[in-house]
Amino acid sequence: MAVERIVQPTTDDESPEEQLIEISLRPKDFASYIGQERLKKNMQLAITAAKKRDEPIDHVLLYGPPGLGKTTMASVIANEMGANIRITSGPAIERAGDLASLLTNLQDGDILFIDEIHRLHRSVEEVLYSAMEDFKLDIMLGKGPSARSLRLDLPKFTIIGATTRTGSLAAPLRDRFGLQHRLEFYTNDEIAKIISRAANILEVEIHDEAANHLAKRARLTPRIANRLLKRVRDYADVNGDGIIDTVVTKQAMELLEIDELGLDPADRRVLETIIEHHKGGPVGVETLAALTGDERATIEDFFEPYLMQIGLLERTPRGRKATRRAYSHLGKDDKLDQTKLV
Ligand code: ADP
Repeated sequence: MAVERIVQPTTDDESPEEQLIEISLRPKDFASYIGQERLKKNMQLAITAAKKRDEPIDHVLLYGPPGLGKTTMASVIANEMGANIRITSGPAIERAGDLASLLTNLQDGDILFIDEIHRLHRSVEEVLYSAMEDFKLDIMLGKGPSARSLRLDLPKFTIIGATTRTGSLAAPLRDRFGLQHRLEFYTNDEIAKIISRAANILEVEIHDEAANHLAKRARLTPRIANRLLKRVRDYADVNGDGIIDTVVTKQAMELLEIDELGLDPADRRVLETIIEHHKGGPVGVETLAALTGDERATIEDFFEPYLMQIGLLERTPRGRKATRRAYSHLGKDDKLDQTKLV
Protein backbone atom coordinates (compact mmCIF):
# COMPACT_ATOMS: atom_id res chain seq x y z
CA MET A 1 0.00 0.00 0.00
CA ALA A 2 1.31 3.43 -0.86
CA VAL A 3 1.68 5.59 2.20
CA GLU A 4 0.56 9.16 1.75
CA ARG A 5 3.34 11.52 2.73
CA ILE A 6 2.38 15.07 3.35
CA VAL A 7 5.92 16.22 2.67
CA GLN A 8 6.24 14.34 -0.61
CA PRO A 9 6.30 16.96 -3.32
CA THR A 10 4.12 15.24 -5.92
CA THR A 11 0.56 16.01 -6.89
CA ASP A 12 -0.59 12.46 -7.63
CA ASP A 13 -2.56 12.12 -4.42
CA GLU A 14 -4.47 15.38 -4.64
CA SER A 15 -8.23 15.57 -4.99
CA PRO A 16 -9.77 17.73 -7.77
CA GLU A 17 -10.63 20.42 -5.16
CA GLU A 18 -7.03 20.51 -3.95
CA GLN A 19 -5.81 20.78 -7.52
CA LEU A 20 -8.10 23.77 -8.07
CA ILE A 21 -6.62 25.43 -4.98
CA GLU A 22 -3.16 24.63 -6.39
CA ILE A 23 -4.02 26.50 -9.57
CA SER A 24 -5.26 29.53 -7.65
CA LEU A 25 -1.99 29.63 -5.69
CA ARG A 26 0.21 29.42 -8.78
CA PRO A 27 1.98 32.73 -9.55
CA LYS A 28 1.10 34.05 -13.01
CA ASP A 29 3.90 36.53 -13.64
CA PHE A 30 7.49 37.28 -12.64
CA ALA A 31 6.35 39.79 -10.03
CA SER A 32 4.47 37.17 -8.00
CA TYR A 33 7.01 34.37 -8.61
CA ILE A 34 9.05 34.56 -5.40
CA GLY A 35 12.80 33.74 -5.34
CA GLN A 36 14.90 32.02 -8.08
CA GLU A 37 16.29 35.46 -8.93
CA ARG A 38 18.97 34.22 -11.34
CA LEU A 39 16.48 32.11 -13.26
CA LYS A 40 14.02 35.00 -13.46
CA LYS A 41 16.68 37.42 -14.74
CA ASN A 42 17.79 34.99 -17.43
CA MET A 43 14.25 34.28 -18.54
CA GLN A 44 13.29 37.94 -18.58
CA LEU A 45 16.29 38.67 -20.79
CA ALA A 46 15.45 35.82 -23.17
CA ILE A 47 11.82 36.93 -23.38
CA THR A 48 12.66 40.58 -24.03
CA ALA A 49 15.16 39.61 -26.76
CA ALA A 50 12.72 37.17 -28.39
CA LYS A 51 9.94 39.75 -28.39
CA LYS A 52 12.24 42.33 -29.95
CA ARG A 53 13.05 39.92 -32.76
CA ASP A 54 9.43 38.84 -32.97
CA GLU A 55 10.43 35.19 -32.55
CA PRO A 56 9.51 32.51 -30.04
CA ILE A 57 12.07 32.02 -27.24
CA ASP A 58 14.63 29.26 -27.50
CA HIS A 59 13.80 25.84 -26.02
CA VAL A 60 14.14 25.83 -22.22
CA LEU A 61 15.19 23.00 -19.93
CA LEU A 62 14.36 23.42 -16.24
CA TYR A 63 15.77 20.92 -13.77
CA GLY A 64 15.76 20.38 -10.05
CA PRO A 65 13.82 18.53 -7.34
CA PRO A 66 10.01 18.31 -7.56
CA GLY A 67 7.81 21.09 -6.20
CA LEU A 68 10.31 23.93 -6.72
CA GLY A 69 8.29 25.72 -9.41
CA LYS A 70 9.26 24.32 -12.83
CA THR A 71 5.67 24.00 -14.11
CA THR A 72 4.86 27.38 -12.60
CA MET A 73 7.84 28.98 -14.35
CA ALA A 74 6.73 27.47 -17.68
CA SER A 75 3.30 29.08 -17.35
CA VAL A 76 4.85 32.39 -16.25
CA ILE A 77 7.03 32.34 -19.39
CA ALA A 78 3.98 31.60 -21.56
CA ASN A 79 2.06 34.39 -19.88
CA GLU A 80 4.87 36.92 -20.26
CA MET A 81 5.33 35.92 -23.93
CA GLY A 82 1.56 36.16 -24.50
CA ALA A 83 1.76 32.57 -25.79
CA ASN A 84 -0.51 29.55 -25.47
CA ILE A 85 0.84 26.67 -23.42
CA ARG A 86 0.07 22.96 -23.81
CA ILE A 87 1.07 20.77 -20.90
CA THR A 88 2.04 17.11 -21.21
CA SER A 89 4.58 14.71 -19.75
CA GLY A 90 7.24 12.29 -21.00
CA PRO A 91 5.41 9.07 -20.12
CA ALA A 92 2.12 10.40 -21.60
CA ILE A 93 3.62 10.58 -25.10
CA GLU A 94 3.72 6.88 -25.85
CA ARG A 95 4.40 6.80 -29.58
CA ALA A 96 6.04 9.01 -32.17
CA GLY A 97 2.55 9.48 -33.63
CA ASP A 98 1.34 11.04 -30.34
CA LEU A 99 4.13 13.57 -30.52
CA ALA A 100 3.41 14.24 -34.20
CA SER A 101 -0.21 15.04 -33.45
CA LEU A 102 0.77 17.30 -30.52
CA LEU A 103 3.28 19.21 -32.66
CA THR A 104 1.16 19.57 -35.78
CA ASN A 105 -1.64 21.05 -33.67
CA LEU A 106 0.55 23.84 -32.33
CA GLN A 107 0.49 27.40 -33.70
CA ASP A 108 3.45 29.70 -34.27
CA GLY A 109 4.76 30.89 -30.89
CA ASP A 110 3.01 28.20 -28.83
CA ILE A 111 4.78 26.56 -25.90
CA LEU A 112 4.74 22.82 -25.32
CA PHE A 113 5.61 21.96 -21.73
CA ILE A 114 6.90 18.40 -21.27
CA ASP A 115 7.18 17.39 -17.63
CA GLU A 116 9.43 14.45 -16.70
CA ILE A 117 11.10 14.76 -20.08
CA HIS A 118 13.75 12.20 -19.03
CA ARG A 119 11.00 9.57 -19.26
CA LEU A 120 10.29 10.08 -22.98
CA HIS A 121 10.44 6.89 -25.03
CA ARG A 122 13.56 6.64 -27.14
CA SER A 123 11.58 6.48 -30.41
CA VAL A 124 9.69 9.65 -29.48
CA GLU A 125 12.88 11.39 -28.43
CA GLU A 126 14.43 10.85 -31.84
CA VAL A 127 11.49 12.49 -33.61
CA LEU A 128 11.77 15.41 -31.23
CA TYR A 129 15.40 16.12 -32.24
CA SER A 130 14.68 17.40 -35.74
CA ALA A 131 11.43 19.01 -34.61
CA MET A 132 13.33 21.08 -32.06
CA GLU A 133 16.26 21.82 -34.31
CA ASP A 134 14.71 22.92 -37.56
CA PHE A 135 10.94 22.71 -37.00
CA LYS A 136 10.58 19.74 -39.32
CA LEU A 137 8.85 16.49 -38.58
CA ASP A 138 10.19 13.32 -40.15
CA ILE A 139 7.63 10.56 -40.27
CA MET A 140 7.86 7.11 -41.76
CA LEU A 141 4.98 5.90 -43.89
CA GLY A 142 4.52 2.17 -44.32
CA LYS A 143 6.88 -0.62 -43.37
CA GLY A 144 9.59 -2.72 -45.00
CA PRO A 145 11.03 -2.01 -48.48
CA SER A 146 8.10 0.16 -49.56
CA ALA A 147 8.45 2.46 -46.52
CA ARG A 148 9.20 6.08 -47.28
CA SER A 149 9.79 9.07 -45.12
CA LEU A 150 7.88 12.31 -45.23
CA ARG A 151 9.08 15.70 -44.02
CA LEU A 152 6.48 18.12 -42.64
CA ASP A 153 7.00 21.77 -41.76
CA LEU A 154 6.04 22.64 -38.20
CA PRO A 155 5.07 25.97 -36.66
CA LYS A 156 7.82 27.83 -34.74
CA PHE A 157 7.15 26.57 -31.24
CA THR A 158 9.08 26.43 -27.96
CA ILE A 159 9.59 23.30 -25.90
CA ILE A 160 9.95 23.78 -22.17
CA GLY A 161 11.17 20.53 -20.65
CA ALA A 162 11.24 19.79 -16.93
CA THR A 163 13.18 17.06 -15.22
CA THR A 164 14.30 16.08 -11.76
CA ARG A 165 17.50 14.65 -13.22
CA THR A 166 19.50 15.99 -16.14
CA GLY A 167 21.83 13.02 -15.86
CA SER A 168 19.12 10.73 -17.25
CA LEU A 169 18.58 12.90 -20.30
CA ALA A 170 20.25 11.75 -23.53
CA ALA A 171 23.00 14.20 -24.51
CA PRO A 172 21.59 14.93 -28.01
CA LEU A 173 18.28 15.93 -26.44
CA ARG A 174 19.90 18.02 -23.73
CA ASP A 175 22.00 19.85 -26.30
CA ARG A 176 18.95 21.02 -28.18
CA PHE A 177 17.86 23.23 -25.30
CA GLY A 178 19.38 26.66 -25.79
CA LEU A 179 18.46 27.72 -22.26
CA GLN A 180 19.16 25.36 -19.37
CA HIS A 181 18.52 26.27 -15.76
CA ARG A 182 18.65 24.59 -12.43
CA LEU A 183 16.05 25.52 -9.82
CA GLU A 184 17.53 25.94 -6.36
CA PHE A 185 15.97 25.22 -3.01
CA TYR A 186 14.39 28.36 -1.53
CA THR A 187 15.54 30.16 1.60
CA ASN A 188 13.37 30.06 4.73
CA ASP A 189 12.56 33.75 4.21
CA GLU A 190 11.35 33.13 0.66
CA ILE A 191 9.24 30.20 1.82
CA ALA A 192 7.74 32.36 4.57
CA LYS A 193 6.79 34.93 1.89
CA ILE A 194 5.24 32.18 -0.25
CA ILE A 195 3.21 31.05 2.78
CA SER A 196 1.99 34.58 3.52
CA ARG A 197 1.05 35.10 -0.13
CA ALA A 198 -0.85 31.80 -0.22
CA ALA A 199 -2.61 32.60 3.08
CA ASN A 200 -3.72 35.88 1.55
CA ILE A 201 -5.18 34.13 -1.50
CA LEU A 202 -6.90 31.52 0.70
CA GLU A 203 -8.17 34.35 2.96
CA VAL A 204 -6.75 32.82 6.11
CA GLU A 205 -5.08 34.85 8.84
CA ILE A 206 -1.58 33.71 9.80
CA HIS A 207 0.76 35.39 12.27
CA ASP A 208 4.25 36.24 10.95
CA GLU A 209 5.86 34.10 13.60
CA ALA A 210 3.68 31.15 12.62
CA ALA A 211 4.56 31.65 8.93
CA ASN A 212 8.26 31.53 9.86
CA HIS A 213 7.72 28.48 12.01
CA LEU A 214 5.92 26.69 9.18
CA ALA A 215 8.53 27.81 6.65
CA LYS A 216 11.24 25.95 8.53
CA ARG A 217 9.27 22.73 8.14
CA ALA A 218 8.52 23.03 4.43
CA ARG A 219 11.74 21.46 3.15
CA LEU A 220 12.66 24.69 1.32
CA THR A 221 9.99 23.72 -1.25
CA PRO A 222 6.96 25.88 -2.23
CA ARG A 223 4.63 22.98 -2.97
CA ILE A 224 5.19 21.55 0.50
CA ALA A 225 4.81 25.00 2.06
CA ASN A 226 1.38 25.38 0.46
CA ARG A 227 0.40 21.90 1.49
CA LEU A 228 1.42 22.39 5.12
CA LEU A 229 -0.46 25.68 5.18
CA LYS A 230 -3.64 23.91 4.06
CA ARG A 231 -3.26 21.26 6.77
CA VAL A 232 -2.65 23.85 9.50
CA ARG A 233 -5.64 25.80 8.25
CA ASP A 234 -7.79 22.66 8.69
CA TYR A 235 -6.39 22.22 12.18
CA ALA A 236 -7.04 25.86 13.11
CA ASP A 237 -10.60 25.66 11.75
CA VAL A 238 -11.39 22.54 13.76
CA ASN A 239 -9.52 23.27 16.98
CA GLY A 240 -9.58 27.05 17.18
CA ASP A 241 -10.99 30.17 15.63
CA GLY A 242 -9.36 29.64 12.21
CA ILE A 243 -6.47 32.01 12.93
CA ILE A 244 -3.05 30.42 12.49
CA ASP A 245 -0.72 31.30 15.33
CA THR A 246 2.45 29.55 16.55
CA VAL A 247 0.65 27.36 19.07
CA VAL A 248 -1.75 25.98 16.47
CA THR A 249 1.12 25.50 14.00
CA LYS A 250 3.19 23.54 16.51
CA GLN A 251 0.26 21.33 17.47
CA ALA A 252 -0.60 20.59 13.84
CA MET A 253 3.02 19.72 13.03
CA GLU A 254 3.14 17.38 16.00
CA LEU A 255 0.01 15.65 14.80
CA LEU A 256 1.52 15.24 11.34
CA GLU A 257 4.78 14.00 12.91
CA ILE A 258 6.82 16.60 11.09
CA ASP A 259 9.84 17.65 13.09
CA GLU A 260 11.63 21.01 13.26
CA LEU A 261 13.71 20.24 10.16
CA GLY A 262 10.66 19.20 8.15
CA LEU A 263 11.43 15.48 8.36
CA ASP A 264 8.57 13.02 8.57
CA PRO A 265 8.74 9.39 9.77
CA ALA A 266 9.75 8.19 6.28
CA ASP A 267 12.82 10.46 6.17
CA ARG A 268 13.79 9.42 9.66
CA ARG A 269 13.42 5.79 8.62
CA VAL A 270 15.91 6.27 5.78
CA LEU A 271 18.48 7.85 8.08
CA GLU A 272 17.88 5.34 10.88
CA THR A 273 18.32 2.47 8.43
CA ILE A 274 21.72 3.79 7.41
CA ILE A 275 22.74 4.29 11.03
CA GLU A 276 21.30 1.09 12.53
CA HIS A 277 21.90 -1.41 9.72
CA HIS A 278 25.05 -0.02 8.15
CA LYS A 279 26.84 1.81 10.95
CA GLY A 280 26.23 5.12 9.22
CA GLY A 281 27.14 3.95 5.71
CA PRO A 282 28.23 4.01 3.03
CA VAL A 283 25.32 1.96 1.76
CA GLY A 284 24.30 1.54 -1.88
CA VAL A 285 20.99 3.08 -2.90
CA GLU A 286 19.58 -0.28 -4.06
CA THR A 287 20.28 -1.86 -0.68
CA LEU A 288 18.79 1.15 1.06
CA ALA A 289 15.66 0.93 -1.09
CA ALA A 290 15.30 -2.77 -0.29
CA LEU A 291 15.66 -2.12 3.43
CA THR A 292 13.21 0.78 3.64
CA GLY A 293 10.74 -0.61 1.10
CA ASP A 294 10.91 2.55 -1.00
CA GLU A 295 11.64 2.68 -4.71
CA ARG A 296 15.12 3.72 -5.73
CA ALA A 297 13.70 6.67 -7.72
CA THR A 298 11.73 7.82 -4.65
CA ILE A 299 14.89 7.86 -2.58
CA GLU A 300 16.86 9.66 -5.28
CA ASP A 301 14.22 12.23 -6.24
CA PHE A 302 12.40 12.93 -2.97
CA PHE A 303 14.48 12.02 0.06
CA GLU A 304 18.03 12.71 -0.97
CA PRO A 305 18.05 16.21 -2.43
CA TYR A 306 16.63 17.77 0.73
CA LEU A 307 18.52 15.56 3.19
CA MET A 308 21.74 16.46 1.39
CA GLN A 309 20.84 20.14 1.18
CA ILE A 310 20.47 20.36 4.97
CA GLY A 311 23.58 18.28 5.58
CA LEU A 312 22.08 15.10 7.02
CA LEU A 313 23.08 12.82 4.17
CA GLU A 314 26.16 12.55 2.02
CA ARG A 315 26.42 10.89 -1.36
CA THR A 316 29.77 9.19 -2.00
CA PRO A 317 30.90 6.96 -4.87
CA ARG A 318 30.49 3.98 -2.51
CA GLY A 319 26.98 4.87 -1.37
CA ARG A 320 25.02 7.04 1.04
CA LYS A 321 26.34 8.09 4.43
CA ALA A 322 24.58 9.61 7.43
CA THR A 323 26.43 12.70 8.66
CA ARG A 324 27.33 13.60 12.23
CA ARG A 325 24.42 16.08 12.12
CA ALA A 326 22.03 13.22 11.26
CA TYR A 327 23.20 11.28 14.32
CA SER A 328 22.61 14.20 16.63
CA HIS A 329 19.28 15.15 15.02
CA LEU A 330 18.00 11.62 15.60
CA GLY A 331 19.53 11.43 19.09
CA LYS A 332 21.90 8.65 18.08
CA ASP A 333 25.18 10.26 19.13
CA ASP A 334 26.05 7.18 21.19
CA LYS A 335 26.10 5.12 17.96
CA LEU A 336 28.56 7.43 16.22
CA ASP A 337 31.75 5.63 15.32
CA GLN A 338 34.39 8.28 16.17
CA THR A 339 36.79 6.75 13.66
CA LYS A 340 34.45 7.46 10.74
CA LEU A 341 33.56 11.07 11.31
CA VAL A 342 31.85 12.93 8.48
P1 ADP B 1 7.44 21.57 -10.12
O1 ADP B 1 6.90 21.68 -11.51
O2 ADP B 1 8.88 21.99 -10.02
O3 ADP B 1 7.23 20.20 -9.51
P2 ADP B 1 5.34 23.47 -9.48
O4 ADP B 1 5.61 24.51 -10.49
O5 ADP B 1 4.19 22.54 -9.76
O6 ADP B 1 6.66 22.60 -9.19
O7 ADP B 1 5.14 24.22 -8.08
C1 ADP B 1 4.35 23.71 -7.04
C2 ADP B 1 3.50 24.79 -6.40
O8 ADP B 1 4.33 25.61 -5.61
C3 ADP B 1 2.81 25.71 -7.40
O9 ADP B 1 1.50 25.32 -7.64
C4 ADP B 1 2.83 27.07 -6.74
O10 ADP B 1 1.65 27.29 -6.02
C5 ADP B 1 3.97 26.99 -5.76
N1 ADP B 1 5.16 27.73 -6.23
C6 ADP B 1 6.18 27.22 -6.95
N2 ADP B 1 7.12 28.14 -7.16
C7 ADP B 1 6.70 29.27 -6.57
C8 ADP B 1 7.26 30.60 -6.42
N3 ADP B 1 8.45 30.88 -6.92
N4 ADP B 1 6.55 31.52 -5.74
C9 ADP B 1 5.34 31.18 -5.20
N5 ADP B 1 4.77 29.96 -5.28
C10 ADP B 1 5.43 29.01 -5.96
